[in-house]
Amino acid sequence: MVLEVLKIALFGAETLKAGEIVAMLHMDFKVQIASFYSVHADARIVPRFQDQSDSGLPAKLQHALTDAKKRKLFEGKPGQTYDFQQAVFIGLGPKDAFLPHQFMRAIGAAYPVLKRFGAKAVAVDVTHLDSACVSFAVQGLRDAAYRFDVFKTEKAKDALLEKVVLVAKDERAHAALRSGLVVSDAVLWARDVNNQPGNVATPAYMAEQARKMGRNAKLKVTVLDEKTLKKKGFHALLAVGQGSLNPPRLVVLEYAGGSKKDPWFALVGKGITFDSGGISIKPSADMDKMKYDKSGACAVLGAMSALSALKIKGNVVGVVAFAENMPSGSSYRPGDIVSSLSGKSIEVLNTDAEGRLVLADALHYVHSQYEPEHVVDLATLTGACCIALGEQFAGLFGNDDEFLKQVEHASKQSGDLVWRLPVQEFEDQIKGEFADVKNVGHPKGYAGASTAAAFLKQFVSGSWAHMDIAGMAWNTSPKPYLASGATGFGVRLLLGVLSNRNAFKKANDN
Ligand SMILES: [Zn+2]
Repeated sequence: MVLEVLKIALFGAETLKAGEIVAMLHMDFKVQIASFYSVHADARIVPRFQDQSDSGLPAKLQHALTDAKKRKLFEGKPGQTYDFQQAVFIGLGPKDAFLPHQFMRAIGAAYPVLKRFGAKAVAVDVTHLDSACVSFAVQGLRDAAYRFDVFKTEKAKDALLEKVVLVAKDERAHAALRSGLVVSDAVLWARDVNNQPGNVATPAYMAEQARKMGRNAKLKVTVLDEKTLKKKGFHALLAVGQGSLNPPRLVVLEYAGGSKKDPWFALVGKGITFDSGGISIKPSADMDKMKYDKSGACAVLGAMSALSALKIKGNVVGVVAFAENMPSGSSYRPGDIVSSLSGKSIEVLNTDAEGRLVLADALHYVHSQYEPEHVVDLATLTGACCIALGEQFAGLFGNDDEFLKQVEHASKQSGDLVWRLPVQEFEDQIKGEFADVKNVGHPKGYAGASTAAAFLKQFVSGSWAHMDIAGMAWNTSPKPYLASGATGFGVRLLLGVLSNRNAFKKANDN
C-alpha cells in the first residue's frame, strides 16, 4: 500500500508537466471559403436545425435525413447525432433559439462518431452559421478529444483526427479560428492542471505551474510563500493551510495591457489543492473529487494565460490563493477565532467552510494593493449552490448591478452559464458571536451559497462579482463531448467579459 502510493507520488513529481498534453492534441485546423461539398474530406459534419427543411442537401444525404426523421432517429435536437456513410448530422435545436456557443457541444457530440469512422480529415459546414461558430467548432472538438491519461501506462490507441477543414462563408472565419485556438488552449491548460491529483498538485506545484505559464504568456508573476504570507498578515489563508505538510502560496499575476494610469481589472480564484474538510472532516464518499477544489484558481490562471495572445486592452491582475485543508495535530479547529489580512476577526464554526477564508485574504489583498475597477472571484464554494442550481448554472452574486449584467451577457455568449442569487439580504446571518464574522450562516445550511457570498462581501470594497462554480467545475460522468474530470468552467466566461470590455474601449477610442 505504502509503496504503491510512494511510486505514484514519485512518478507524478518526475514526469508530469501540466499543459504538455495540450500540445499533444495534434489537430490541424484550417478555414476554407468554399462550397461545402466541393471540399475533399474523409468525413463531413452537417449541422441541422430542428425546423430546417431537408432540401439543399445532395440527394443521397437528403434521402438519408428524411428517412432518419421519419423513423425518429434524428430530429435536429441539441446533442443529437445521426451518421450516414461518412457524414454526421448534428442537431442544433430550433433556429430562433440557437446561440453560437451551442455549436461547441453539438460538434463535440460528433467526436466519438468520427473516431468510429477512423476519419483523419473532416470537413465542417459552417457556411450558414455565425462566424463565432468557427471558434466554437475548434473549442468543441478539442474539448471532446482531451483525455487526462498521463498516469496510464497504456494510452488509448484510437486514432486522432488530424485535419479539420472549417468551410465558412466569409473571411471573418479566419479571426474566429485564431481566437478559438487561443481560448481552447487556455481551457485545456486549466482542465489539465486541475485534473492533477492532490499528491502532485500541492500549493507549491501550482505556484510553479503558474510561474511557467506566466513566462510564456508575458505576465509578471509573484509568488508569496508561507514566510512572506506570515510577515504580511495573511492569517486566514495560513489558518486553513496550517494542518498540512504542504504550506500555502499566494500567486499574483500581472498583465499590463494598458497604460500605467489605467485601472486594474482583478480576477481572484480559490485554490484549495485538496479539501478533506479538515477537523470538520467530510464523509469518505466522493472525497477523492476534492482535488477539484482548486477549480476557481485554475480558471483564473487559464484566463490569464490567453490575455496577451488575445491582445486584451487594459491592465488585469490575477490573485490565486492555494492551500491544502487537512486534519492533523496542527490544524485549525472549530471554535477557533482567527485574524485576517483585513484585520477583521473570523470565528471558525466549521473548518470545511475554508474557501471563504482564503478568499477573504485574497480579496482584501487585491483591493488594498490594486484598487481595481472591478473584481470577479471564482470558487467551488458551496454544496448549497449545487443543490440550488445543479450542474446547469454557476451561482452569480455581487454588489454592482451594471457589472453583473456584463457578466451575464458574457455568460450567454460563452456558454459558461450563470444564474443570479441574492447576497445583501444574508449579511446579518454571518455576524459573529465572539468575533466580527463567522464562517457559517444558518445552522441548518439554509441559503448556504448566499451566506457564503455575504461572508466574502465583508472583504470587498468596490464593484464585485462572485461566482460559485461548485456544480460546474467537475464533470462527474463522461459525455460524448467531454471526458469526466475538470471542465475548465469560467475560462471562457472571464475571457468573454474582458474581450467585451476590449470592444467597448475600442469603440470609445475611435
Ligand atoms: Zn471545504
